[in-house]
Amino acid sequence: MKLPAKSIVLGTLLGGAVGDAMGAPFEGLWADSIPSADSLAASFHKYHGYPNGQYTDDTQLTLATIQSIVEQNDIVVADVARQIAELWRHHSVIGPGGACTQAAERYLATGDHRNMGAPVGQAGNGTAMRTAALGLWFASNQSLIPVVADVSRITHQDSRSVAGGVAIAMAAKQLSSASDINPHSFCRILADACHDINSEMSDLLQLLPNHLNDEAAMDFIAHAGQRTPEFEKPIITPFVIPTVLASIYSILTCPDSWLEAVTFAVRLGGDVDTLGAIVGALAGARHGIDSIPQNLIDCLQDSRDIEVLATRYHLAIPAQDESGG
Ligand SMILES: [Mg+2]
Repeated sequence: MKLPAKSIVLGTLLGGAVGDAMGAPFEGLWADSIPSADSLAASFHKYHGYPNGQYTDDTQLTLATIQSIVEQNDIVVADVARQIAELWRHHSVIGPGGACTQAAERYLATGDHRNMGAPVGQAGNGTAMRTAALGLWFASNQSLIPVVADVSRITHQDSRSVAGGVAIAMAAKQLSSASDINPHSFCRILADACHDINSEMSDLLQLLPNHLNDEAAMDFIAHAGQRTPEFEKPIITPFVIPTVLASIYSILTCPDSWLEAVTFAVRLGGDVDTLGAIVGALAGARHGIDSIPQNLIDCLQDSRDIEVLATRYHLAIPAQDESGG
């Protein structure tokens, strides 16, 4: 297996940031309140209180993770935790989730990265929102799973959130390296990766391809993993299970285009900056940097800095022999 192309690494990091910035102005809205795909593609919409093209915590935690890796030339969980917590020390996080905030505050108070993650029961998507780019690091599926699980546990101890982080990293790895994506075999690989961490996430990922082209797919996805759904009408809350399923569903429904996949995801409604971030990264891992509209990259905040970091990450990714980082 060869190194991921530079275009794939840039596509993953810039794609995630562009998707995050595309969704940010519409976080929490119902699907029918979100503009058309053409309108989303034309330019970033106004995000109150921030400059045009502003990304949020999803991208900030991803970039902190990748910054740590390029500095350490390895994935050192303690240093990733430190870099993530630094964002809170500097009060610079935009739209943070509660679990990530608790985790960072615990780290800043104790310096202990092993026990900082939010407790079991808090199963938000703060893991999955930041792990796609990690998937490009690994030569083998087996080497990815324990490391991405440990990186996920920095913020969340709940096994559903840990499984979600692993599933998204594995999805990026597969999308960046497999020549064909068959929905059933793709979801089987993600389900297998999660199985020993959380069987519920695993089982739902395995069922997901049965719902492609199904009119009730969004009911299945939005209500997955909940005995009593918070909302009857489908909307993607920050709960990790629907977030991961909706992200994979978007990629499988729109397999040929970065823009179609990301606008589809943002138009699902709910936690759409995170959906934009995850699907933007996954579609970027599949299609590369040239698939992302240049007008959006040009207007993205810190676009050039992200490109420089992505280039450094590409150079740091180990030659993919047996070691796998
Ligand atoms: Mg966000």
